[in-house]
Amino acid sequence: AAIWTRSDAYHNTHLIADPAPGLEAALSESKAEGLPEIAVSAAQGKFLNLLIRTHGWKRVLEVGTLGGYSTIWMANAIPADGKIVTLELSDKHAEVARKNVANAGHAGKVEVIVGPALETLPGLSPDPPFDLAFIDADKESNTEYFVHAKRLVRPGGAIIVDNVGRQGNVADETNTEPRLEGVRRLLRYIKEDKTVDATTIHTVGDKGFDGFLYAIRL
Ligand code: SAM
Repeated sequence: AAIWTRSDAYHNTHLIADPAPGLEAALSESKAEGLPEIAVSAAQGKFLNLLIRTHGWKRVLEVGTLGGYSTIWMANAIPADGKIVTLELSDKHAEVARKNVANAGHAGKVEVIVGPALETLPGLSPDPPFDLAFIDADKESNTEYFVHAKRLVRPGGAIIVDNVGRQGNVADETNTEPRLEGVRRLLRYIKEDKTVDATTIHTVGDKGFDGFLYAIRL
C-alpha cells in the first residue's frame, strides 16, 4: 500500500540515507540483467546487518541469493575472517551475484554455490557451524531448508525465514497455493519441534505486508 511505501521511504531517508557502496549498484545491475525485483527491502537488509553486528556473528548461510543484495548487506556486517555461503538455483542469478559481491568488495568473504538447495545443502558441514541461516528461496521447501539450517547452525544460532506473511494469505487456509502451503508446513513443523524457539514479526513497507520468522536453535 502507498502509505507503507511512503513510511518506509521516509524512515530510510533518515536511517539509510547513505547506504554502503555496492548496494544500490547491486540492485541496478540485477535489474539491468533482467532479474526479478524480489530482493529484501533496504530496511530489512539493514536489519540483518545490524543483527549480525549486535552479536558479532561471523558465519552466515543464505538460501536464495538472487543478485546478492541481501548477501552484500550481511557481508558488510561481517569481519574479514567471516564467511557467507549462499545457495542459488540459477546460474544466471549466481553470476550476477558474484559480480555484485565483488563490486561491493566482498568476493573473499562470499561463496556462491549453484544448484537446487535441496541438493547442495547436504554437502555442507556444521564444522565449523554457522551463526545465522537466512532462508529466502522457493517457499515450498522451507521445512527442508529449516531442518538443514538447524543442523548447520550452532546451538544458540539463529534461523530467519523471509516471506512468512504473504499479505496475510498464509493465514487463509482456503488458499492452497504451494508457496503458502510451504510456510504453513514449516509453522506446523516448528510447533512440534522442541529444539527451536521462534516468533514471526510481520513487516510492512515497500515490499507490501509480509513477515520474518525468527528462530533460535536451543
Ligand atoms: N535473498 C535475496 C535478496 O534478498 O537479495 C532474494 C532471494 S529471491 C527472493 C529467491 C531466490 O531463490 C531466487 O534467486 C531463486 O532463483 C532462488 N531459488 C529458487 N529455487 C531455489 C532452489 N531450489 N535452490 C536454490 N535457490 C533457489
